[in-house]
Amino acid sequence: MKPAYLFLSAALLVAGVAWAQKPDSIRAKRIQDSLNNLKAHETEYYEPVPTVVTPGANYADPPSDAIILFDGKNLDQWVSANDTTKPADWVIKKGLLTVNKKAGSIQTKQLFMDYQIHVEWREPKDIEGSDQGRGNSGLFLASTGKGDDGYEMQILDNYNNKTYTNGQAGSIYKQNAPLVNPNRPPGEWQTYDVVWTAPRFNDDGSLKSPARVTAFFNGLLVQNNFELKGPTLYIGHPTYENAVHGPYPIKIQAHGDKSKPISFRNIWVRPL
Ligand code: MG
Repeated sequence: MKPAYLFLSAALLVAGVAWAQKPDSIRAKRIQDSLNNLKAHETEYYEPVPTVVTPGANYADPPSDAIILFDGKNLDQWVSANDTTKPADWVIKKGLLTVNKKAGSIQTKQLFMDYQIHVEWREPKDIEGSDQGRGNSGLFLASTGKGDDGYEMQILDNYNNKTYTNGQAGSIYKQNAPLVNPNRPPGEWQTYDVVWTAPRFNDDGSLKSPARVTAFFNGLLVQNNFELKGPTLYIGHPTYENAVHGPYPIKIQAHGDKSKPISFRNIWVRPL
């Protein structure tokens, strides 16, 4: 090869290496720009709509090895999610726990890694509103911070209430629609039985294994070992980037919609 060609080849090689390395920052900026331009509705899906199924009549009592999180008496196991030094200021009346929207979400004092949880919830019989503004709450399977930080399994009145499928009751919010729609009418008790497997991370912060959820809604399978893509996001696509964590509290959402607050009873958990 002539020296001129040799020089040209070397120059092209150097330029090629430089080109291959430089776009990292450009690519990252482009991804960030596209995320900044995302709208909430771009990650909301309406088809296919989960089939409506009528559930059986019974719910589950706590087994002998369960940690009782709420049995109708007090909120000793809970604190405010926005200020964990403060008590959970929700309303207990006649054995029922009702959301106090002004007080914000509540979360368990205890931290959990992998577990099985049972939760019963009830929409007010005279619930009003539509879409996401109708009896919205949520079971955060790991509360990674204040407000809506964490991994949410949606609670909502979806008995004849249309919304995006990956935002309806039994969905992993904005990630996976429930397999069916077993909602009972407002005023009747609904049950969630959920198995949560926390995500695992390597020492360098990279993801070792994603979080997984199996969930039964009124006894019907709605999430079948679903692998979560990251903590719940209202806008944008979830990711585990910067999400490294171990055990976390379980949180129940006080949602800001204008409809009447929903109630809970019989909440227990079994660490696995
Ligand atoms: Mg919610």
